[in-house]
Amino acid sequence: MSFRWFFLGALLVACHANQESTHDGRKQSVLDIRDAEATCPPIALNASLDDLVHAIVSNMGLKAGAGSDAYVVPSPSVRDAFAASVVSTLSGDTHKACGLPASYRSFSLHDGAEDILLVAELDATGHPAPQSFWGTYASRRPAPGTRALVVEAPHPLFDKNTPYESRAVFSEARAEWFLMAGAHRCANEGSAGCDGTTTACGGDSAPYRESDTAHATTSPFFAIHAELSRSTDAPFLQLHGNAQSCPDALISDASGTYSDAGVTARLAAAIEARGPSVGRCGLGYPKTGCSLCGTDNVEARMTAGSSQACTEKGTQYGRLVHLEQRPGLRQIPDGGTPGYQPVVDAVIATFTPR
Ligand SMILES: [Zn+2]
Repeated sequence: MSFRWFFLGALLVACHANQESTHDGRKQSVLDIRDAEATCPPIALNASLDDLVHAIVSNMGLKAGAGSDAYVVPSPSVRDAFAASVVSTLSGDTHKACGLPASYRSFSLHDGAEDILLVAELDATGHPAPQSFWGTYASRRPAPGTRALVVEAPHPLFDKNTPYESRAVFSEARAEWFLMAGAHRCANEGSAGCDGTTTACGGDSAPYRESDTAHATTSPFFAIHAELSRSTDAPFLQLHGNAQSCPDALISDASGTYSDAGVTARLAAAIEARGPSVGRCGLGYPKTGCSLCGTDNVEARMTAGSSQACTEKGTQYGRLVHLEQRPGLRQIPDGGTPGYQPVVDAVIATFTPR
């Protein structure tokens, strides 16, 4: 144990050495060579993903809540470099992990029978230490029994419990990707500049905020989604919550029309079979008082083939499931309360494992 930590410490020192800058050209070239060879392996954490997600969301509530202005909007190049580093790191590339921003670290931890990788704004001991609030990302190495599925929680804090539900789906369904936004959707006042309006941040209907990862293509969360959409064949499940006059679940492929084929229809049937009531967008929904079908959702638009997801719909829907849920369906299961367990079980029944 002590040797392993010493070894890890030495590697971390090496990583930090690479980030030093120098004006001495000769010294720089030595550092460049070391850069090419450097690795920043994940820090082994003896913690559960559930506990970490709870700690991160609690901290987010203190620091990146509605009106906090805490969320840092990156430039497009910084956003894309971050997304590439996160996806590479989560794919096991310990060299690319050295390119993560200083506030981000990669970790490995046990999740069920497997070890997973995590990229998050945690200090080296696993405590929340966010600076940019760009989100929390995890991966599971593909293996027999894992599911090529990306589980997304774009609205922590606002869509109460969806981070914990997403974590449960990721762990219990042995999904391969987990994406959670880093701030409340109303954290910043600035507008996302994308299609659509909402009353989510209070007052009259207003443009979506730049901190709203489901409606801002400037967000690292969107860029990571896009990277996974391009580089994998995995379907996406994006979990939301609402307090409208809706069935327990309102399910959509975000196209605005209903299709009987594909994972959206299968997941709808699987949830319904376990008890909760289900509304289907394009089949009687949206309607007055229950209107959240995700047609402005930028992740859905991108995966449906839009190259301008901020302002243009896609053309080929079906790979992303947009799931809206009343509070009861996203409660943490507790004794007699099934909460989100029917959703977890429906996901396991719907998405085929490897
Ligand atoms: Zn939402």
